Amino acid sequence: EASLHDNNGVVVPKIPPFDYSPPPYDGPSADEILAKRKQYLSPSMFYFYQKPLNVVDGKMQYLFDENGRRYLDAFGGIATVCCGHCHPDVVDAIVNQTKRLQHSTIVYLNRAISDFAEALTSKLPGNLKVVFFTNSGTEANELALMIARLYTGCHDIISLRNAYHGNAAGTMGATAQCNWKFNVVQSGVHHALNPDPYRGVFGSDGEKYARDVQDLIEFGTSGNVAAFISEAIQGIGGIVELAPGYLPAAYSSIKKAGGLCIADEVQSGFARTGSHFWGFETQGVVPDIVTMAKGIGNGIPLGAVVTTPEISEVLTRRSYFNTFGGNPVCTAAGLAVLNVIEKEKLQENAFIVGSYLKERLAALKDKYEVVGDVRGRGLMIGVELVTDRQLKTPAKTETLHVMDQMKDLGVLIGKGGYYGNVFRITPPLCFTKEDADFLVDAMDYSLAKL
Ligand code: PLP
Repeated sequence: EASLHDNNGVVVPKIPPFDYSPPPYDGPSADEILAKRKQYLSPSMFYFYQKPLNVVDGKMQYLFDENGRRYLDAFGGIATVCCGHCHPDVVDAIVNQTKRLQHSTIVYLNRAISDFAEALTSKLPGNLKVVFFTNSGTEANELALMIARLYTGCHDIISLRNAYHGNAAGTMGATAQCNWKFNVVQSGVHHALNPDPYRGVFGSDGEKYARDVQDLIEFGTSGNVAAFISEAIQGIGGIVELAPGYLPAAYSSIKKAGGLCIADEVQSGFARTGSHFWGFETQGVVPDIVTMAKGIGNGIPLGAVVTTPEISEVLTRRSYFNTFGGNPVCTAAGLAVLNVIEKEKLQENAFIVGSYLKERLAALKDKYEVVGDVRGRGLMIGVELVTDRQLKTPAKTETLHVMDQMKDLGVLIGKGGYYGNVFRITPPLCFTKEDADFLVDAMDYSLAKL
């Protein structure tokens, strides 16, 4: 096929071929949906593009709009669609379970729930063997914080500046970015210096940042804490991979202060980092509690808290349940996800394609002054745009322009970071090298247009 050229004679990047056509769409137009959304949905809901995209169908790493136009989904529904949109095995598991039993409460037995709990814990190290299912990452983190407070009898929690852990009372306290905070009572939460190799004061020296955790314990608490919670790679915070050596040092201080270590794997779990199944493994630590959501169900509402038998005992003090958490339809999807990750070697793929993609993106840094940093691991990559490399001045409008231009070419990426100037690339783990090439070519083309 002949290449398309723009008005300046530059080759326009072309989406790789894909053998699937969505069924015809005869629903309302994007404008009609937008008008309804504005009228009936909370104004807090935002969208990335000047003209929001109406997504109608999804297949693996692609989304389709109402005209059947195909887009490479390199955001993956916020790192959620790990196996690919509407992966046939996940769809079958959901449909089959739905036909048999849609809901059962905890007062009965059901194999979909127990089988998935067994399979999930087999993926975790140490004595992390007891699961409590929730419907979201927020709920999982709320529960984890409560368990830690009950278990230790302490109230103080340490989380990282720039973290995102959810949007309910406790988790909004642990979240540390004013972009996501309402009038929350920040009871007992202390925010430690972020071990951010690009913007942080100690560069890539993880142990130096961890001294702040020790300082917070010494100067902000009674000397005992309930928990430390952190992501291994901050997602919403702009794909910030914690400086090497940080977690072992921070965990050590927390353990000495009697606290539990909570790993929030909502974005970095389920093979996304490529090198490991869980993000915390990249720093060689074993947490006391692991929380997860997003990728666990490939987009189905599901979350989980996994901890040790001993710690889980605190939940027997009262009746504790969640109406929908561990719904058999969701857990059937979860089991299918684990099987697909293994069968299709998605972790290996995330490693190979992710390394290739990062290398190609890093080359854009040599070509464009505006590309300040390229970072991340596996298929969790961030590209930070700055107008001044020395001052690291966030290039906010440039970020939006590039995203809009990339969307027009057929590539969807996310954005985040405190200043909203970091591209977030978190595609389904079935992403191919051809997809990576298309993404980088589209970004290259769009950066050149700035
Ligand atoms: N933790 C992390 C790391 C997240 O990225 C998010 C959401 O983006 C949450 C927790 C909250 O999850 P949810 O939106 O499912 O409540």
